[in-house]
Amino acid sequence: MQDEEIHAGHCLCGAVTFRTRGRLREVVACHCSQCRRQSGLYYAATSIANDRLVVEGGEAITWYRASPSAERGFCKHCGSALFWRHDGEADTSIMAGAFDQPSGLKIAYHIFCADKGDFYEIDDGLPQSPQGRAGLKTAGD
Ligand SMILES: [Zn+2]
Ligand SMILES: [Zn+2]
Repeated sequence: MQDEEIHAGHCLCGAVTFRTRGRLREVVACHCSQCRRQSGLYYAATSIANDRLVVEGGEAITWYRASPSAERGFCKHCGSALFWRHDGEADTSIMAGAFDQPSGLKIAYHIFCADKGDFYEIDDGLPQSPQGRAGLKTAGD
């Protein structure tokens, strides 16, 4: 059997821990108003197939349905935003900042830039979409 990448992470208080097996998706930065309000800034999330994600302490996760088609999982003790999942999809988005460092992750592009907060600029030179992006499942789809 081939060696696979293993990544691990946890919420701020440690009640929720997770492990992923295999290659993680590039990180997408979402600047939509939901991500802005929940995080105070923006979401930066990777994603992995559900069968490659193991979560412990799942009873500490509150799933908040911010839109009809998706929900956001956060730790009910410390408030850390951890997961995002779209109904009917076989993968889960995971906040890049929750991973143990070094994560090996990189932001690839920005979405919903039209809704970003007015108190910062996106100036890393990466592609920016005003709304979502073709091929990427978001709550706006
Ligand atoms: Zn926590
Ligand atoms: Zn968003």
